Amino acid sequence: MGEHEQQQGWGFETRAIHTGQAPDPTSGAVVTPITLSTTFAQDGVGNHKGFEYSRSGNPTRTALETCVASLEGARHGMAFASGLAAEDNVLRLLSPGDRVLLGNDAYGGTFRLIAKVWAPLGVSWSAVDLTDTDALAAEWPSDTRMVWLETPTNPLLTCVDIEAVAAIAHAHGALVVVDNTFATPFLQTPLTFGADVVVHSATKYLGGHSDVVGGFLALDDDELADRLRFTQNAAGAVPAPFDCYLVLRGVKTLGLRVERHCANARAVVDLLTSHPAVERVLYPQLPDHPGHAAAAKQMRDFGGMVSFTLAGGLQAALEVVRHTEVFTLAESLGAVESLIEHPGQMTHASAAGSPLQVPDSLVRLSVGIESASDLVADLEQALDHV
Ligand code: PLP
Repeated sequence: MGEHEQQQGWGFETRAIHTGQAPDPTSGAVVTPITLSTTFAQDGVGNHKGFEYSRSGNPTRTALETCVASLEGARHGMAFASGLAAEDNVLRLLSPGDRVLLGNDAYGGTFRLIAKVWAPLGVSWSAVDLTDTDALAAEWPSDTRMVWLETPTNPLLTCVDIEAVAAIAHAHGALVVVDNTFATPFLQTPLTFGADVVVHSATKYLGGHSDVVGGFLALDDDELADRLRFTQNAAGAVPAPFDCYLVLRGVKTLGLRVERHCANARAVVDLLTSHPAVERVLYPQLPDHPGHAAAAKQMRDFGGMVSFTLAGGLQAALEVVRHTEVFTLAESLGAVESLIEHPGQMTHASAAGSPLQVPDSLVRLSVGIESASDLVADLEQALDHV
């Protein structure tokens, strides 16, 4: 059995800590070195040890790419300078006249990239309800080349049945891209449900400590991987070696962290569902959540993100986010510390006036891994201000 096959047999946490990260053969260093060199010596022209120039490939980046690809159960992995750089690399597969179908509550930055950067270059897009697969099959635009699917979505936590969408898309020859940022490969591996490409903002749970911006692509298809790797090098949106090290360090504890994120989210959901100021709690574990069935089918647990609307509307939402003390009012998500934000005026402001606009009574929580009792008490006192 080769090294690759042996490691694919390992459990998630073992791969997170060891895959791509064997002790350095020259020094025995147990921690993957941060290789800052931009260029690599050649014994003769074209005769090198696998690295020539750090935009094309770097040993610290290769360690990260090997590890996260393995966590996604993918043959290929590519790291980028940000999640949006990774997304941009995928969108470069399209040509003018091609259409992307985008879930109608996708992350605002994804919407902005498609609608404001790629649409002026001739790529068409439509925002659609990917949970309504009957309508998707019946109203499929013939110029569609790609379906862009987030599950759970940011910020409404809609869950889409990856397998059902992939079956329709593949019948029409379209690629299925799944943004797995919210779920992480610990909870969900989209390639096993038929996705063609998995996208991550590594800035979130993969890094996990709010100290690095990064992106990732994982996929199985060799030819598609060649095309994406070509653009990774040709367009050059690659991460610095130090950033690769930080993501790799974060990934080692991904499983442990996500287990705790999920447990803490449940404690918070219990409070929110019983609080009179709260109108609606959006969490895929709740049986009345529209995405519950899809989440239960394809996720191992329900994640650390919780959104809710306030009965008192915009003013109540702004009061709550102003009064938390353990939850920090800030954008981003997926790190050890708990964050709270108002999507309508913060992360999703760029979607205002579009089909992806979010309700202004909505608050989003990224539930961290602090003591659950402190998180519950903090939200309770903030809700008492409403
Ligand atoms: N995808 C999702 C679901 C996100 O939440 C984000 C950022 O918030 C991105 C992609 C973009 O990633 P980045 O901020 O690393 O460019």
